[in-house]
Amino acid sequence: MLLDIYDPKAPPKAIGIDLGTTNSIVAYVRDGHPVALINCDGQELLPSVVHYADHGQVQVGRTAQSYVSRDPERTIVSVKRFMGKGANDVAGERLGAYRFARPANEDDARVVRFDLGGRTVSPVEVSAEILKSLAGSARDQLRSVGGAVITVPAYFDDAQRQATKDAGKLAGLDVLRLLNEPTAAALAYGLESKNNGLFVVFDLGGGTFDVTVLQLDDGVFQVKSTGGDTALGGDDMDQIIAKRLLASMGYGNGDATQIDVESVPPEVVGLVLGAARDVKHRLTDEERAVIQLPRRDGKGEATCVITRAEFTDAILPLLERAGRACRRALRDAGVQADALDGVILVGGATRVPAVKRYVAELFSQEPLAGIDPDLVVAAGAALHADQLSRSSDEVLLLDVIPLSLGIETMGGAVDRILPRNTTIPAGAKSTFTTYADGQTGFEIHVVQGERELAKDCRSLARFTLRGIPALPAGHARLEIGFGIDENGLLHVSAKELLTGIEQTVEVKPSYGLTDEQVEEMLIDALDHGESDFELRRLVESRVEGERILLATRKALDVDADLLDADQRSRVDSAIRELEQATQSASKPAQIEGAIAALDHATHDWAGARMNRAIKGALGGVAVTAVEKDVQGARGVDVQVAEHAENRTAMSPGSAVVFETGDTLERDDTPAVGAERP
Ligand code: ADP
Ligand code: MG
Repeated sequence: MLLDIYDPKAPPKAIGIDLGTTNSIVAYVRDGHPVALINCDGQELLPSVVHYADHGQVQVGRTAQSYVSRDPERTIVSVKRFMGKGANDVAGERLGAYRFARPANEDDARVVRFDLGGRTVSPVEVSAEILKSLAGSARDQLRSVGGAVITVPAYFDDAQRQATKDAGKLAGLDVLRLLNEPTAAALAYGLESKNNGLFVVFDLGGGTFDVTVLQLDDGVFQVKSTGGDTALGGDDMDQIIAKRLLASMGYGNGDATQIDVESVPPEVVGLVLGAARDVKHRLTDEERAVIQLPRRDGKGEATCVITRAEFTDAILPLLERAGRACRRALRDAGVQADALDGVILVGGATRVPAVKRYVAELFSQEPLAGIDPDLVVAAGAALHADQLSRSSDEVLLLDVIPLSLGIETMGGAVDRILPRNTTIPAGAKSTFTTYADGQTGFEIHVVQGERELAKDCRSLARFTLRGIPALPAGHARLEIGFGIDENGLLHVSAKELLTGIEQTVEVKPSYGLTDEQVEEMLIDALDHGESDFELRRLVESRVEGERILLATRKALDVDADLLDADQRSRVDSAIRELEQATQSASKPAQIEGAIAALDHATHDWAGARMNRAIKGALGGVAVTAVEKDVQGARGVDVQVAEHAENRTAMSPGSAVVFETGDTLERDDTPAVGAERP
């Protein structure tokens, strides 16, 4: 046996952590290969369970797991399900026997807390205990630990990612980056060493399901789409078996469908969930499992028998849920199942024979399972941490955003700044201008979703950019920048380009979205696609109509003398028609028609105004004023700075006071690392 010789000058080792719902693992790279470190239990897999003893001692892993049935209320399992969640998000969601603290007020309700009797802890604090334990093991074995990469499910939203990062910091780790689990798995399989191909990563863990479509192009790989379900995994299989076991013990009058788990004593729930997991593992290798459990009436033990065939039948609905998410991910990526070059299995629950069979049928090919499905994510995280710490240019990692991000514009429409499935990191900018004269503030409303109107999307943040000097409508240039970093966190900046006044917010929604909600939002957008589009056109033409009315009235204030009586009456009647149309039209075409009529009625007048402007310029007016007035010649915009005292003239009921300019431009921030190995 060789002993590692400690070299005090050796650089700190970067580590990769798979912070799983059920199990967590820490790994590092030795001689170019990922190696799992041994944890406090003397194992590679650390059960993600934390026990808080009466006297303040905190235990993690197997020791903590042994308290699941002995002291269930102070033993937190599956904490990952609650990361970034608010107290109202978790109603009815309970896996262990622990209790949630009743929030004292609304502010308190932003973060769910576990009630340990006498004290409460947040999911971030619980996760930090798991990370502290893993980091401690790594320090013991590596002496000096550098940065860490922590993995998260691909569907984790902003709040959940932020919570994970916070847990890392609380554990004293230098978090280099959060990495999506499927992406980590692909790295562990060394897909980047092949040249081209299309792959699917199917990750069924204890609590989360992720599916990812990856495309490998000349050695560069890109996440084409992601999908999944944060509430689907081996735990759900345990629940199904647990109900059958409880029925055999005499609960629910012997009928599994009649069992209300809430009414079963917590220590019995803990015991039965443990037994159920054991049965499930045995059914992976055996055709039937037999187990003895205490009868409810206390009269000895009940013998429970569950066959693999029964188990396979019972979990079919779970597999079908996974199947639906897979088909959706393929559709999003625009990929047919027969175009796939490989399917990778990740997560302990993919050991279940029925799962393997289902995946093989779903994708019409045998999945790859060469690497231990429990270790593959940590291995990929370690490889990535190693790459980052050596700032090597080996791999290009691209992830995508699950839902479009944009802002609300005039009239309540949405301007999508980063479309759904944009690869991250990414940045994009869009320029807007003022709708009314003398606006000194802009309200910016950041929304997420696929619907055309802001009220149908999810509101992420609102903020106001103040202190803009009063300018005529259309003169201020407001640049909105969206930047999404490697961790999937969104930064929104708003800058008024003339004055340089700027404000930035980091969007951390207090409530997370579940996968079901993401799915609902997508289905909703499909269902409403056509009617939404019509509505959006109507809103936009209404805004356009109002803008033209405003500009024409302003032009009349200045240059009405250029119209003869006949022209004036035609302009006035076209204005009335357009006013009528913007107020009551139900079809965009009606407003568009009235706009065209007004445009026609003001055509000659616009020419006369242009002549006057040019003469004015020759008489000493600045050239820029001429340019502005030439733009204004079509009745759209005139140089009337005196109108600045007219404060924010918002249309009633509208929260937003700007409209889309025409300078939407995108600058895709260079992604992580360089292109090929
Ligand atoms: P997570 O990513 O959620 O932490 P893992 O990838 O560690 O989860 O998978 C844990 C799940 O895998 C648990 O539900 C566990 O019971 C299940 N599992 C582990 N080994 C087996 C096995 N041999 N047969 C069936 N299920 C298994
Ligand atoms: Mg996992």
